[in-house]
Amino acid sequence: MLASFVQDRWVTPTDGLVDIPSAIDGRTVACASSDGVDFAAAVQHAREVGGPALRALTFHERADRLKALAAFLSERKEALYALSADTGATKRDNLFDIDGGIGTLFAYASRGRRELPAERFVIEGGTEALSRGGSFVGLHVLTPLNGVGVHINAFNFPCWGMLEKLAPTILAGVPVITKPATATAYVAEALVRLIVEANVLPKGAVQFVCGSAGDLLDHLGGQDVVSFTGSAETSERLRNHPSIGRNAVRFIAERDSLNAAVLGPDATAGSPELDLFVKEVVREMTVKAGQKCTAVRRIVVPRSLETTVTDAIKAQLDKITVGDPRRDEVRMGPLASLSQRAALRDAVAALSAETEIVAGDPERVAPVGGDADKGAFMAPVLLRCAEPLRARRVHTIEPFGPVATVMPYDTLDDAVAIVAKGEGSLVASVFTYDEAVADALVFGLAPFHGRVLILDRDCAKESTGHGSPLPGLVHGGPGRAGGGEEMGGLRGVFHYMQRTALQGSPARLASLTRTWLKGAPAPVAAVHPFKREYEALAVGDTVETGSRTITIADIEHFADFTGDSFYAHMDEAAAKANPFFPGRVAHGYLILSFAAGLFVDPAPGPLLANYGLDNLRFLKPVSPGEAIRVRLTVKEKRPARKPEYGEVRWDVEVFNQDGETVARYDLLTMSARRDASSSA
Ligand code: NDP
Repeated sequence: MLASFVQDRWVTPTDGLVDIPSAIDGRTVACASSDGVDFAAAVQHAREVGGPALRALTFHERADRLKALAAFLSERKEALYALSADTGATKRDNLFDIDGGIGTLFAYASRGRRELPAERFVIEGGTEALSRGGSFVGLHVLTPLNGVGVHINAFNFPCWGMLEKLAPTILAGVPVITKPATATAYVAEALVRLIVEANVLPKGAVQFVCGSAGDLLDHLGGQDVVSFTGSAETSERLRNHPSIGRNAVRFIAERDSLNAAVLGPDATAGSPELDLFVKEVVREMTVKAGQKCTAVRRIVVPRSLETTVTDAIKAQLDKITVGDPRRDEVRMGPLASLSQRAALRDAVAALSAETEIVAGDPERVAPVGGDADKGAFMAPVLLRCAEPLRARRVHTIEPFGPVATVMPYDTLDDAVAIVAKGEGSLVASVFTYDEAVADALVFGLAPFHGRVLILDRDCAKESTGHGSPLPGLVHGGPGRAGGGEEMGGLRGVFHYMQRTALQGSPARLASLTRTWLKGAPAPVAAVHPFKREYEALAVGDTVETGSRTITIADIEHFADFTGDSFYAHMDEAAAKANPFFPGRVAHGYLILSFAAGLFVDPAPGPLLANYGLDNLRFLKPVSPGEAIRVRLTVKEKRPARKPEYGEVRWDVEVFNQDGETVARYDLLTMSARRDASSSA
């Protein structure tokens, strides 16, 4: 019997139990019910216990916990593999669901450390100048919502579906109540048991509801986020729930999607792109028995290549062995349940008004192993729609299984129009080696998709494929696909945070955000900051240098030494003819080099290395005879993962003798820590 994990306790149901059958042979694998779960108390627990505990941690501390969790799960994934077989998943399918889910946790842990500050808020973008005198400025901050992330997941990816939502939410500092689809809840429950056993997340950070969602949504408000994956019908029902509308609860939906793969007209029989197309379509139809939100449902091919492509797909589908996913020779397991298969057969029947079957029999298959009657096996089915521009159902009914339809097109505009009839999908892939074809298809399809993959001979070997959502890239799509967005690197984290514009004086905003802003106090440090360990540096500590006059001899020496004898530095007449220069000017890199010469403290000390520059701009040319000076200010400090040093971002502004800015940039350095054994 599956239990829920609510208020940091396992709640075992006694009533309302639903049997969950094995996809392989129909035997009852588990039973579930959310009976006994107090949803109001769960929401309150998330808000009052999980949220404050997570918000007390910095992004780096949350990221470290996600990493520890990922490592813990990684060592125990075999147990999840074993359970997953009953959902119909093969070993190959587990790579997507279980390894993919753990990989997403690792990816977010690493992004949190690299791309977010050791703080509890994020500054987004730069400072906005709001006044002439510079005493009133604005900037944007993101802070974690004070509510709960309610995640309602589909049956097809019990692990990945949970973890890809959980990772960005926890990293944002928001607790989670996660609800799996009942059909595969036993895998999700096992995963949550491991999460609880790992004991790395704070109390109240993760709660788990097994069974129906009860009155959960009734308790949500404006600080909460619902992220849903599943059917369009359920999504619509939830979106129209009174609490969601009334309280402006953020609602992210990922739902039906009739993804397309389009073969360019430049492909020919035997060309790499045609072969890749066939391989990818077959893979998409059969991985997870086609029960993937990103699977290819519409196979859009030039009419002249239709027979060639169809024959090639048929030949490959013939080689797919359907059966018990635990057997080595089996390439495709059963669907998740008999009801899922019944729904799929209904979908194929509904599509028959516009299609003909060209391969596979939806009613018959001889599985290798498993129970042919009680298991949810089905053969891959290839359909053909001769006039896709005139059809409707093939663009609106999502056959959620190993079923896809070949659709011939005559012109590129037609190909785009056919795909667009899906009214918004998660992903489309384009197979071409022709620049003009790629241009027409990609920019024609992009407005209707969250992701477009362009697959050709150059990237095929390393491509992650049509069907793989990636933590760094947006997953979601407009229209029918739900209009939501998940992952996409930090974009997915920011869904769980509030963006606020702050307005005030540079001094106030700098002290609030622990980041130096132009116009904020910049006290000249008594000791050169390069002589100070990381801990002793204060944001705002400044070096004001003396000045150095740049001579024509300096410019010529620099040109000779570096080999950069660009005319603007070496040829007076040519430089004068250039509208940007008054005559020969100093190299930008000379200015940078001289700036460093002015501000460095040369003695060995705690400053370990300069590892780059950001946002460099040369704002005004410097002519021979002019003098430059530099202001160097500690802009931001950031502890590194290693305890030996911290990262320091410096604001560097180079002025001429008239006080005009000639160059500005961020200098990035590493400074040793006083106590190398201390952590962030
Ligand atoms: P559903 O929409 O039926 O269920 C999705 C999730 O919503 C499940 O966790 C389900 O829980 C939950 N749910 C259902 N009703 C409610 C409710 N009233 N309140 C709160 N939660 C609710 O989708 P399925 O997973 O059953 O899949 C059905 C179809 O959805 C598929 O055949 C396919 O067409 C489509 N689908 C599309 C996906 C996509 O991303 N494109 C992904 C998966 C499915 P419970 O299981 O307990 O009912």
